[in-house]
Amino acid sequence: MSFTWRYLVRPDGDFCRIGNLDGSLDNVSDEELARLHPSDREEDQPARPCSRCGGELLLHWHGPLMTRVWMELCPACDVHRPAARSFIRWYRDADRDPKALPQLFEDWETETMHAHGWARAQEPETPSSPPTPPGLTPRGRG
Ligand SMILES: [Zn+2]
Repeated sequence: MSFTWRYLVRPDGDFCRIGNLDGSLDNVSDEELARLHPSDREEDQPARPCSRCGGELLLHWHGPLMTRVWMELCPACDVHRPAARSFIRWYRDADRDPKALPQLFEDWETETMHAHGWARAQEPETPSSPPTPPGLTPRGRG
């Protein structure tokens, strides 16, 4: 079984991604996908302001399952982060290349989740509990 994301980018830069299980969407054209996923998404959630500066977010997106993280793309707060900066630039570029989205999105996701204290699982050999760095021993009580 294989699972990948299929990204669908609309002319205004809005996009969605659809799970592609076992390549079942490989033969579906972007036009068909757009019909299946109309842009007036049933997202009734009001636009969320940035949790850091209160400004307008370019994008907020739920993090990977189980993390309960909402990832925010804020043009004011995130511009110093390389993956976010590239993503913001792409998002605002009318000549954006839809094919660049998956890499940009995943880089941004990795960077954002890292900032939230998560790391993408990679090598199974990685010890699950890293040794406590010196100087960070728990505070004693009393
Ligand atoms: Zn902000």
